[in-house]
Amino acid sequence: MSLRRLPLLCCLIGCGTGESPAPLDLAINGGRVIDPASDLDGIRHLGIRDGRIALVSEQPLAAADTIDATGLVVAPGFVDLHSHSIGAGGDVWQVRDGVTTSLELEEGASPVAEWYQDLEGKSLIHYGVAAGHIPTRIAVMQRVSTLAGYREWRTRGEDGVPPRWSHAPASPEELAALRAGLLAGIEAGGLGIGFEIAESPGSSREEVLMLFQLAKELNVPIYAHLRQMGIDPITGSLAGVQEVLANALATGASTHFVHLGSSSLNYVKPIVAMIEAAQARGLDVTGEVYPYTAASTGIQTALFDGDWRARLGISYGDLEWPSTGARLSEGNFAEFRRRGGAVIIHMMKDENVEYLIGRPGIMIASDAMPFVEGRGHPRGAGTFARVLGRYVREKGTVGLVEAIRKMTYLPAERVRGAAPMMARKGRLTAGADADVTIFDPAAVIDHATFDRPEQASTGIPWVVVGGTVVVRQGSIVPGAAPGRPVRRAAP
Ligand SMILES: [Zn+2]
Repeated sequence: MSLRRLPLLCCLIGCGTGESPAPLDLAINGGRVIDPASDLDGIRHLGIRDGRIALVSEQPLAAADTIDATGLVVAPGFVDLHSHSIGAGGDVWQVRDGVTTSLELEEGASPVAEWYQDLEGKSLIHYGVAAGHIPTRIAVMQRVSTLAGYREWRTRGEDGVPPRWSHAPASPEELAALRAGLLAGIEAGGLGIGFEIAESPGSSREEVLMLFQLAKELNVPIYAHLRQMGIDPITGSLAGVQEVLANALATGASTHFVHLGSSSLNYVKPIVAMIEAAQARGLDVTGEVYPYTAASTGIQTALFDGDWRARLGISYGDLEWPSTGARLSEGNFAEFRRRGGAVIIHMMKDENVEYLIGRPGIMIASDAMPFVEGRGHPRGAGTFARVLGRYVREKGTVGLVEAIRKMTYLPAERVRGAAPMMARKGRLTAGADADVTIFDPAAVIDHATFDRPEQASTGIPWVVVGGTVVVRQGSIVPGAAPGRPVRRAAP
């Protein structure tokens, strides 16, 4: 018997242990394995059993099912900290973009238990949610107790009378109910507290401070969308970052800045410098970016109150209506605002977005939004392939290994404090969850555009979720739904 076959045989029959390990369910052979957790970057063969990485071998492996990954990169499945499309059909686009875990940490939800229930057994990818400040404010101040009730209030058009949940200060009783609601959300498994103060400007600074105090008390992170986003040197984005950093400093709460590209506008450099200086002083603060120069949110929200053009440094023509692709005008803006719905906001510069993508430690997160009648922001389908294709391969903005770290290990570590199960994600070491994304570094690219966002990325032929092959040679395997909940573990 030739020596070459000995190791392969060993893993089938077990040499010298007397025990024969159970056969492998899946082997991924011949790929360039890149594992940010162990700094491994080399040709290896992965053996998968019972949804876990059983071994990382230097020898090819045999199994019930095998994937030939020769010439391809084998990376941990991508962990997206920021998606609003979970449960709204987003998983079919995200999984083909290499995402195996998708988390709704910015908006969050209320009730959290109902959010998890709704997804049980229905998702292609793993999923999780934070306790949401706005959803809980809606629950308390508009007296609703269901997700449907929250969604109805959240998407209602602007009829000239702003709702209490967004614009009214909370009474002491409402503040207490808000705190109790968030606590219940985290006890139900919520992965932290997410807020978007720019869309709930009635939230006092004391109320926001309370969110940080509660997060620290429960040892979960804050996911922060700034109060102020804008170009003004005094009341603009820097002021928003300073409110968040002051609260993080005063409470010691772990803090994550969402979508730094749209939040920072032209202030990316001073804002990144402040975050890095805070890190150097021991604060646990992190941030993320998506690779597009346009943002998107509800046109009915407070972001478009008052003189938004001066605040954001844009005008009507920078707003795009997704369903038609038409740009808005002074004449029709009020009508769209009254109707309500997601609008695309062309307001960021590519050099600022590129600066963030190239900055060590800044994570990649999509801010995916549900597609409506096949239209919407392309970030829900193309974010990760876009970084690997355009910013790694074409522009050289960031190295391949560092890019993979930004979309796997770093986001997993960000959530790990609240959910220790994340110690098994974002890495390809033995014992880790078998969430694996296999892509061709020479071909991976996004196709989703503002005109036609429902176009899957290509160059990612295989995606494995919890040991189940969900994408096989570029196509979704029918009937697969191996997504499992990512929940906070009670201390
Ligand atoms: Zn946001």
